[in-house]
Amino acid sequence: MIERGRFAPSPTGELHLGNARTAILAWLWARSEGGGFTMRVEDLDRPRVRPGLARRQLEELDWLGITWDEGPDSRTGDDLGARGPYRQSERTAQYEAALVALGDHVYQCFCSRAEIAAASAPHGPQDDGPRYPGTCAHLGRAQRAERRRTRAPALRLRVPPGPIAFHDELQGAQEFDPGATVGDFVLRRADGIFAYQLAVVIDDAAMGVTQVLRGEDLLPSTARQILLYRLLGLREPRWAHAGLVASASGERLSKRDRAASLSALRAAGRDPGELVTRLCALSGLPELPGRGLADRVSTFALPRVARGTVRLDRP
Ligand code: GLU
Repeated sequence: MIERGRFAPSPTGELHLGNARTAILAWLWARSEGGGFTMRVEDLDRPRVRPGLARRQLEELDWLGITWDEGPDSRTGDDLGARGPYRQSERTAQYEAALVALGDHVYQCFCSRAEIAAASAPHGPQDDGPRYPGTCAHLGRAQRAERRRTRAPALRLRVPPGPIAFHDELQGAQEFDPGATVGDFVLRRADGIFAYQLAVVIDDAAMGVTQVLRGEDLLPSTARQILLYRLLGLREPRWAHAGLVASASGERLSKRDRAASLSALRAAGRDPGELVTRLCALSGLPELPGRGLADRVSTFALPRVARGTVRLDRP
């Protein structure tokens, strides 16, 4: 089988050096295995999407030397490849079909955030909010109809109990228990916006992605995604989660770190080759000063990539 990697930026905030490093590693991994590479724009969360940012992010990735044979062309914006559209905002029909395929594994939930917070203690992982206590899991048809008169429902997945184990090619054996930590998670919000967890699975499978390399903050999400792969009978990709990039002061880089944003570095006239050299060296790969990305494919080896958080010495 031909390998295929991908990078999937969200046009809700500037790309920073951490995102650049993820893109570089994902690209090197795919290319070192003779694979293709897909670029997907994750613009699902329409209220948070910044106009024009997706296009600029693609230009910045192009500037770094990342190439893709599927995804929106950075110059024309037209889709390259036959498995598009490559912007999630244009893939609603595919997500709707997935909901239908999931059938009774999906149910309507009428709870507000405040109600969930009040009903559940102790709280689950920070990024996900409290564990959903299953309040709406067994509503009858009449109860649902009654509630729909005053509130639009979110759709949740009935998460089976028990841990999900998987192999991560960088972090080794992993095990998470989504039922115990997040509970029945949201697939479509009450405002109609599809959740990342569902969209990413549908898209990676439909786009022929065989390997996913991304930041280790997404490890717990991987277990939820594996659950969806299994329920939908889709083929799981290989997983590799790289450690995060921290600023010189030791804090995780975020969209708010203007100095480390690719747009600021580009506007300041920085040499993209030098950034690639630094990010590779920081990640445990050969430094190879003066060499572009293409020249690094033959020496790339996934096991060499640093597993823990790496710290920038300067922007
Ligand atoms: N759009 C997601 C992000 O920017 C990518 C998640 C993924 O790689 O699965 O964090």
